[in-house]
Amino acid sequence: MPIEKSATKTNLLEQARQIEQETIACRRHIHENPELSFQEVKTAALITEKLKELGYKVTPAARTGVVGELGEGKTIAIRADMDALPLQEENPEPYRSKQPGVMHACGHDAHVACGLSAAKLLADQYKKGSLKGKIRFLFQPSEEAVDDEGKSGASLLVEEGWLKDVQALIGLHVFPNMPTGHIALRKGSIFAACDTFDITIKGVGGHAAFPERAVDPVVLAATIVQSMQTLVSRRKSPVEPALITLGGIRSSSYKSNVIPETVQLTGTMRYFEKSARDLLYAEMKNILSIADKMGGSYSIEYRTENPALSNDHQLTDTVGAVAAQLLGADKVITFDRILGSEDFSFYTEHAPCCFLILGCQPGDHPRNFHGPHFDIDESALAIGTAMLAQTALHLLED
Ligand SMILES: [Zn+2]
Ligand SMILES: [Zn+2]
Repeated sequence: MPIEKSATKTNLLEQARQIEQETIACRRHIHENPELSFQEVKTAALITEKLKELGYKVTPAARTGVVGELGEGKTIAIRADMDALPLQEENPEPYRSKQPGVMHACGHDAHVACGLSAAKLLADQYKKGSLKGKIRFLFQPSEEAVDDEGKSGASLLVEEGWLKDVQALIGLHVFPNMPTGHIALRKGSIFAACDTFDITIKGVGGHAAFPERAVDPVVLAATIVQSMQTLVSRRKSPVEPALITLGGIRSSSYKSNVIPETVQLTGTMRYFEKSARDLLYAEMKNILSIADKMGGSYSIEYRTENPALSNDHQLTDTVGAVAAQLLGADKVITFDRILGSEDFSFYTEHAPCCFLILGCQPGDHPRNFHGPHFDIDESALAIGTAMLAQTALHLLED
């Protein structure tokens, strides 16, 4: 989609670079003071204070989240998630986490910092009379975890109605294994749907020396684990991406001379199309019925968590055009879709959305998400800030 002349007049990347030190300081402050999902109280207080200073109408939302609004009319929304992870940071930097066992290892500190600086740039536009509509910031708690009812921050914000009158919603995720200066985009699905399950395989416990008097759930589990992996390779089409990962296995007793009563398995299924889920779930139950046929039994608790994250085609074109304007067309690359998941996906079911990927690799050292050495190249923060603000400004001018 071509960028109209009016939007090209204002280059918010230059302005984002002018406030870059403030953005970096904000990111470092949040990085040093990470808070777990639905416990983002201090982070929310900081966001509230900054938004109020800028003239936004601020409403607490989704328990520990914050919604900031400015202007009237057509509404464009920007989302930034806020939570950290239960992980001990092992970076040497002076801004490393001060909270033992809690760390911003997914970059949500950077998302908040980019969001607040974008809020500042858009407040400047509002004061100049250049904001032709309403901007709504969704500072979302708990992307990484769900509450007792299985709800993360995004689903709560949707339930509270913050998406109802939204014309378009954008958000970003830092990627510290993609070079700084690049934006990656893809139309349609980019992140997979994520379900989780817990399986209990019940046998008959007994003495290790008398297996004929027991039904060994360890052997049943081993057969089931092996067979489960053939579902992905043999039961579904090889060109349809999906996976089953078993993340844990444990027996009710753990002793060399005891056949346990039960074995538990925990795992996740990832897919893009619901038809793939239906097929794999039905086949999974077929495989579990091995337990019944061999004298044991099974139960499964299956939970659907995040849906697939699907970017709106037209909005993604617009974001791509803004990125090309700010960074050059050669810096806008196609995102290879992954089987990771993100609760931004809940929004994509309620409004046209685009989730953009912000390259921020520190030098030659790509970092792993959710690892103790996670970090970003902070020079990418100005790009993230500008992408959010410039896209919103452009969409309001449209
Ligand atoms: Zn994460
Ligand atoms: Zn994340």
